[in-house]
Amino acid sequence: MMKRSLGLSYLLVAMLALQGCAGWNLEKRGENGGAAQAAAVEARKDAPVVIVGAGLTGLTIAYELKKAGIDSLIIEASPRIGGRIQTVTFADGVTAEAHMEEYFARSPAVALLKELDLPVIEDVAHSTVRLEGKIYPYQGEGDRDQYLAGIFNAEERAAFLKWNEKAWGIYSKLHASHYEGKPLPPELAELMRISFAEFISRDKLPHKVSEWIRATVEPEMAIEWDKIAALDGIDEMRLFLDTPEGFGEKNYHVRGGNTRFTEALTARLKPDQMMTQARVTAIDQTATGVKLRVLVKEREYIEVTGRMAVVTVPVNHIGRIQFSPALTPEKWKAINTTKMGSYIKVHFRVAPEAAPLWSQNGESILTMLSDTQAGSVYDVSDLQGSSMAGRDQVLTLLLHARFARDLMNQPLDEVREKSAEALDKLFPGVRKHIKYSEIFVYPQAVAYWPLELGRSRFDALADDLRSPQGRIYFGGDTTVDSHSEGAVVSALNISRHLIERKAELK
Ligand SMILES: Cc1cc2nc3c(=O)[nH]c(=O)nc-3n(C[C@H](O)[C@H](O)[C@H](O)COP(=O)(O)OP(=O)(O)OC[C@H]3O[C@@H](n4cnc5c(N)ncnc54)[C@H](O)[C@@H]3O)c2cc1C
Repeated sequence: MMKRSLGLSYLLVAMLALQGCAGWNLEKRGENGGAAQAAAVEARKDAPVVIVGAGLTGLTIAYELKKAGIDSLIIEASPRIGGRIQTVTFADGVTAEAHMEEYFARSPAVALLKELDLPVIEDVAHSTVRLEGKIYPYQGEGDRDQYLAGIFNAEERAAFLKWNEKAWGIYSKLHASHYEGKPLPPELAELMRISFAEFISRDKLPHKVSEWIRATVEPEMAIEWDKIAALDGIDEMRLFLDTPEGFGEKNYHVRGGNTRFTEALTARLKPDQMMTQARVTAIDQTATGVKLRVLVKEREYIEVTGRMAVVTVPVNHIGRIQFSPALTPEKWKAINTTKMGSYIKVHFRVAPEAAPLWSQNGESILTMLSDTQAGSVYDVSDLQGSSMAGRDQVLTLLLHARFARDLMNQPLDEVREKSAEALDKLFPGVRKHIKYSEIFVYPQAVAYWPLELGRSRFDALADDLRSPQGRIYFGGDTTVDSHSEGAVVSALNISRHLIERKAELK
């Protein structure tokens, strides 16, 4: 999920004047947008479209509908808007991401960031890699041949490029079929029946090349490459392939942190379009509309009505909502057989004197994808554009898949010690510079479609979940892929449908 962070080209888009963008609650907000002290006010209880969840998907849908002149109400269980987007600030003002980091160039999320005039930092697709005991520092400033020469010998490079051509050919067919709303050609459908690991092994690639592919794809999906269908793996590899448009996709970080994204979307809505600390527990459908039961502040049920509802909660939370009439067996099967990969994020505050440990020729070699318990390592100050001169650094470790699962149920002290140990193996001596850590544990972080249950993100069950049941739509990244791209893709698709059904929203 991360790239190298050297030589970032800072693409500064005009700054957004963020207004008081806190959401609405059942309480009135203070003048400064802070938590409310004022008297409780009556929340809205009806809207043409009722959106469950104020993550990137829910906010994007409300924003798109507003642009089309359609009113909506977002109901969010937590007191905080943003879901799996959350920037945290340390006591000295340095920021880091608790959840997601970056957006890739071809994701519609990037177009949205630009539309909202948010300042972004541009980075290249590839990173330093550590494979089987050796670190290969990033080189090439985006140049394919220089990057590959830094890792592979001539024979490995040729094998990689041949494989790349094959993978890009398959992706192009996927783009021309599934992504254009057409059926998959049989040779692609076949790739839903073997694992991505098996697909790679059939080409008998040099070991280092296949390990590079594995180290690249597994952090993206937070699951091992033998657990997913080959077609899903190829879809993920799109971000890193050599294509007619360049070597890998550029990616973007929001300067100052991703929360600015969800704040900017919220600021475009009317204050009474947001209800927080309100958990949807049931959705009933009638011939003319929807009726939602909502538990407010964990103590009072209210009823909210609308013409249509959009559920944007991750698939592993849908089962906590009652539906009447019940969801179809196909929908439940699609929901119950979509699984979630795991992440742990460890932010180490490290004394500034440690920086030379991950520098070569005076420049940082981070971001690094590693095949060790340290997972992927990156330098937050570079990625968020904070000035860290003379200050403690933030080194972030994103442990994925087995690395995360190995520590999942351990006390945080153990997670810290094991992660520090792994980091010290990569950069000997760093441990004594660590001052403290903050740790976020995500047993269920992002979706994957388990091959052992016969699933792929491109199968008929996935298509079924993406289609509405009467007046209820299901959206969110977990209906599309493992990223914010899926969140925005689903938001745009659902918004388009709802705009087409505008007459039914009266
Ligand atoms: C550690 C981590 C790192 C990641 N890194 C990246 C990355 O680098 N790049 C990338 O593109 N993606 C990344 N992702 C994925 C990205 O965060 C998600 O794709 C995106 O934020 C999903 O947005 P969403 O709105 O679909 O879901 P969510 O953000 O999960 O929003 C769903 C909302 O629904 C609310 N909700 C749940 N149940 C109810 C209920 N019953 N009633 C009312 N509200 C409810 C939740 O509180 C939540 O606010 C990462 C995720 C994690 C966890």
